[in-house]
Amino acid sequence: MNIDYNKNNGLVPAIIQDASTHKVLMLGYMNEEAVKKTIATKLVTFFSRTKQRLWTKGEESGNVLNFVGMKLDCDSDTLLVQVNPKGPTCHKGSDTCWNDDNTQSFGFLSDLETVIENRKNNAAEDTSYVASLFAKGINKIAQKVGEEAVEVVIEAKDNDDKLFLDESADLLFHYMILLQFKGFKLNDVVDVLKSREK
Ligand code: AMP
Ligand code: ZN
Ligand code: ZN
Ligand code: ZN
Repeated sequence: MNIDYNKNNGLVPAIIQDASTHKVLMLGYMNEEAVKKTIATKLVTFFSRTKQRLWTKGEESGNVLNFVGMKLDCDSDTLLVQVNPKGPTCHKGSDTCWNDDNTQSFGFLSDLETVIENRKNNAAEDTSYVASLFAKGINKIAQKVGEEAVEVVIEAKDNDDKLFLDESADLLFHYMILLQFKGFKLNDVVDVLKSREK
């Protein structure tokens, strides 16, 4: 790897990312020695500007960053380091140095999950379609999932891609409402899928 150490007095910024959740955990600086030590020991090691020495993250706390891999950016002056963290990464005790939870995020689907959760929590006052489904209960919600699944099957046999995608969206949406009603998260289902991985 041809890292450009010259732009910043021998130091390159290293963005530390969880290899699994892809959350950014912290930022540190590495010199050539730190990069070599990280690769050799499989423990992320920085050059600490405060301590003015090599610093293996977790050397006191035990909250190490197990090294998975690293990539260079477009102009070779910034590292993206993928890790499996042991314990919280921030010395203040949070998962990340920006006080975020290091949980899996599914982008737009996670935003939608939050909207559905809010509808459930306000089902009594809320007049939205989703709130009304929560108010009606499990039989109605499960029935809707069944109906949308059948509609997906029907449209799958057609040649109308738009109808197939519309019904797919309906199924996913109502399935997410069912999951929420049962008190589960998308992440719970993903955990099951992951546990099946060979
Ligand atoms: P550790 O490397 O986890 O044993 O922590 C040793 C010291 O490094 C702490 O007392 C902090 O001063 C500093 N430190 C640890 N983690 C971080 C972090 N994520 N960002 C900045 N400084 C840190
Ligand atoms: Zn760059
Ligand atoms: Zn921190
Ligand atoms: Zn439908």
